[in-house]
Amino acid sequence: MSSVFDDCAVPEPSSLLGFSSNGIASDVESRTDSCLSAALDNKDTLYLAVKSGSVLICETQAGSRAFLSLEEINKFDPDFVNAIMPGIADGRSIVAVPAKIDVETLKTPYRAMDARAVLYSASLPPEEAGAVGMALSLLHWHKTNQHCGLCGSASRSHLGGLRRDCKQCKAQIFPRTDPVVIMLALRGDKCLLGRGPQFPPNWYSCLAGFVEPGETIEQAVRRETREESGIKIGRVKYYASQPWPFPHSLMIGAYCEALSDEISFDGEELEDCRWFDREEVLAMIERRHAKELRAPPSKSIAAHIMGNWLKQTA
Ligand SMILES: [Zn+2]
Repeated sequence: MSSVFDDCAVPEPSSLLGFSSNGIASDVESRTDSCLSAALDNKDTLYLAVKSGSVLICETQAGSRAFLSLEEINKFDPDFVNAIMPGIADGRSIVAVPAKIDVETLKTPYRAMDARAVLYSASLPPEEAGAVGMALSLLHWHKTNQHCGLCGSASRSHLGGLRRDCKQCKAQIFPRTDPVVIMLALRGDKCLLGRGPQFPPNWYSCLAGFVEPGETIEQAVRRETREESGIKIGRVKYYASQPWPFPHSLMIGAYCEALSDEISFDGEELEDCRWFDREEVLAMIERRHAKELRAPPSKSIAAHIMGNWLKQTA
């Protein structure tokens, strides 16, 4: 008997992406406010040190790691008052701690690595990169939610940092994730790529944009593609998703069917946008394009969307 799962890819495409192998169980339903202090009292707890949106990692010839011992984190002037506990991984509590140390004073083997570098270098073990993504998103959310959105009073962290409560009106504020669609528009044997002015030189990627209130994913794909490139879109097919800690988004990857050819873009959101054929995209992924045009890094959802299109249509 056929089933709705027959066309599910194995391995699951999302599982191959950077930040997607987070093994932390948050167990928010069974938490109490004492979970953080209990974790801080437990000698087996592992720590993530975060400074200005970067994680402090230990990098040796044996490899890189972001999970630190108590002895290690104490070197970085930790701010335990504003620590949070994302959850438990492999039976050990994971605590993320803002560090006050000046990163310029860090000594080998420690150094700061921002989320983009974590994604591009892919040097951390996948489950640690996933934990870093979660911790960076959560700590950024705390930083930007110090006051209640309803009454403006101060809010305070609860449940080890998975909720904030307003001291005045008692409103409960939960961490947020902003959905972003990222899509590859296809027309015959060509795909549509663009480059934003903020991209590194020679990079081209899938078009992307935030889902707006009241929209479905499919509607957001059609609207964003139309707004950015002028291309009209028909059918939309979900492909994979990627946690995107910039600062707390979820990338939702899709393919979409272009119904028109003529591209128009405003030069602000995109500085270039055009059709690429299969050979050119393959050359960009393999870093051998004649004009040195490049696809995004291998652990990004954009690279996987582009690569899977080539594979599926080979
Ligand atoms: Zn309030």
